[in-house]
Amino acid sequence: MASIASVKLMDAPEVVASGQSALVSKTLADGFALLTFPRELEDRFLTEGEARRFHMMVVAGVAAVCLFGAMIIGDYLLSPGVVRFAAVLREAVFPPAIFIGLYLLRRLRMPALNEWMIALAGVLAALLEVAIVLRGEADWAVARVVQLNIIMVFTCVIARFWPAVMMALAVAGLHGHVVATMPDATGMMSFNTSLLLGTSIAFVLYGNYKQEHDERMSFLLEAREQALHASLTEAHDRLSHLATTDALTQVANRRYVETYLSECWQAARAQGTSLSLILVDVDYFKPYNDRYGHQAGDRCLVAVAEALRGCIRRPGDLVARWGGEEFVVVLLDADVDATEAAAARLRLAVSALQMPHEASLCAAHVTISGGWASVHPNEQDDWPQWVQLVDEALYGAKHAGRHRMHAAQGMMPHAAVASEVRRC
Ligand code: GH3
Ligand code: MG
Ligand code: MG
Repeated sequence: MASIASVKLMDAPEVVASGQSALVSKTLADGFALLTFPRELEDRFLTEGEARRFHMMVVAGVAAVCLFGAMIIGDYLLSPGVVRFAAVLREAVFPPAIFIGLYLLRRLRMPALNEWMIALAGVLAALLEVAIVLRGEADWAVARVVQLNIIMVFTCVIARFWPAVMMALAVAGLHGHVVATMPDATGMMSFNTSLLLGTSIAFVLYGNYKQEHDERMSFLLEAREQALHASLTEAHDRLSHLATTDALTQVANRRYVETYLSECWQAARAQGTSLSLILVDVDYFKPYNDRYGHQAGDRCLVAVAEALRGCIRRPGDLVARWGGEEFVVVLLDADVDATEAAAARLRLAVSALQMPHEASLCAAHVTISGGWASVHPNEQDDWPQWVQLVDEALYGAKHAGRHRMHAAQGMMPHAAVASEVRRC
């Protein structure tokens, strides 16, 4: 009966943390012109994007190593005298620095640090480049300063905005130092390369800012959608819980058990298994209320429900409040003997509570009476007729003196109720 066993009462609704939802809305309303979120949100933004960003860093790191290494061609053409020195820096210093850096960052797992390390790698490349350029003594040696431009653009395209700003400023400073130091054979090289670098920095940083702003905006909109979804799910769970649970005793309510009975009936009919019902009623409960007060009566019902629930442990079996001081227990695939034994357990469990009941005429403590039946549902009969039979058995137990469980004696119109008159 997998399908039935899987039908469960809703768990009590859990309070879903929605603190970030307000923060997301506030951040969207306030804007984030400086490209930073409040701490909590910033951490989430960085953490959620960490894997994707790190993957990008690895790809970009490999590309940077190739690109920086390939610049040796420019060294060879414009300053042949520095090729050996350049080769050491380009092929023996930069690649290990990048790969060791990536390895360490992978181990550290600090997303914010990763972002700054992208810019730092760019600064390292720029420093090495400057070292190579400053070594050049040929007439066109200073021309290679444009390679700083390539390094700056490459780095600023992949770095986040503020690290990119830091990187761009560092490159601008290094560029200034180079053109101020190196002889300019044409007289125009310094001006043109500076103009090129200045405009490149402006365009790249503008594009970088727009890109990061869009990325952050998408993150916020998605976070808002997730928060909305979570709050709707929470509301749905809460409503489901309210709709299916008895507020006082926290067992299933009448509405739920009726639906459940109907489903179980159909499933048992289809699978040819048996279905058992035990209807339970607290004895002399009106006198109990009169004697101890309505609130004590409520507490008594809660204790009885708890005791009944403690007796029913198989998946798919259900305890529900039928109404007032009546409870119903549904057992799946339990034969007559098992149902009778379960009914006896219920009666004993409530007696064992030993809740004093001075107004009872059948015992000194709170007791229950019950009716029960186990059936093999068939095509012709329906479950309400069966409930009616069990109710009559309960009535019989009351009539016979209470504090007892009676099996249903009547016959369903089309199928024999698999029980016989028994007292437990
Ligand atoms: P019997 O042994 O024949 O079952 O007698 P009884 O007094 O238990 O049955 P009766 O139907 O006369 O009274 C049931 C009482 O249960 C009346 C009603 O006030 C009380 N009751 C129903 N629901 C609640 C509830 O939620 N809390 C409390 N405290 N009492 C309830
Ligand atoms: Mg009653
Ligand atoms: Mg009663």
